[in-house]
Amino acid sequence: MSASPHSNVRIVLVNTTHPGNIGAVARAMKNMGLRELYLVDPRIYPSAEATARASGADDVLAEAVVCADLNQAIEDCPLVIGASARQRAIECPRLGPRECVAMIAERAGAGPVAVVFGREHSGLSNAELDLCHFQLAIPVDPGFTSLNLAAAVQIFAYEHFLARAGAGQGVSAEAGTAVSAAEMERFYQHLEQVMIEIGFLDPARPRHLMRRLRRLYNRARPDQTEMNILRGILTAVQARTGGRR
Ligand code: SAH
Repeated sequence: MSASPHSNVRIVLVNTTHPGNIGAVARAMKNMGLRELYLVDPRIYPSAEATARASGADDVLAEAVVCADLNQAIEDCPLVIGASARQRAIECPRLGPRECVAMIAERAGAGPVAVVFGREHSGLSNAELDLCHFQLAIPVDPGFTSLNLAAAVQIFAYEHFLARAGAGQGVSAEAGTAVSAAEMERFYQHLEQVMIEIGFLDPARPRHLMRRLRRLYNRARPDQTEMNILRGILTAVQARTGGRR
């Protein structure tokens, strides 16, 4: 069984403290055919310990891109997934590893996919998870939920490897009908604008309305035809109310 060497998945590590973990992640990635590693403000890097723990995957380390902040690491990615064991008050849709790789395969045509992993001690902040479209939650014993960073990457990478090997290049027939992240953003802007125009959303007191609606529509994953219907409804509302189109 072999997977294509060209995966569109990018592993992003945020603020990693231990260089050994960075090396172990590089190794886990190379075993599973992943190459693209982004390091957001790593505590110690480059490092002999990282290279030692990479143990043969030093090419992945050598090609790693170091960024100052998470926005830079994901700016060209239409799909961003944040790995976190913790449940948040308002969370993006949660996926297990298998559902996650299936969803990545579905959207394979859209561009690079960032899978973001947090700090060893404190994970990802709520603000960082807000930049993600989905949360990857690896099922674990509820009494002890936090995996080692490299172990978490390994589990994701393994599922991704299996899915790609099983599905040829991992490009599904549906890829053409998928809605891009940029289009989803335009829809959210349109929706927000209409809700303000009809007096449903008070821009001075927006509360969590848009975040909750994003959660709803991201979970529904509308295809192109459904998106056209949603945009059509919004435009029809504006035609009635005389709003800006
Ligand atoms: N103490 C931290 C966990 C840090 S583990 C916390 O409470 O969030 C380092 C990283 O590994 C996490 O930020 C996350 O990206 C990943 N990780 C660890 N366990 C995970 C799990 N069960 N599901 C998904 N990601 C996990």
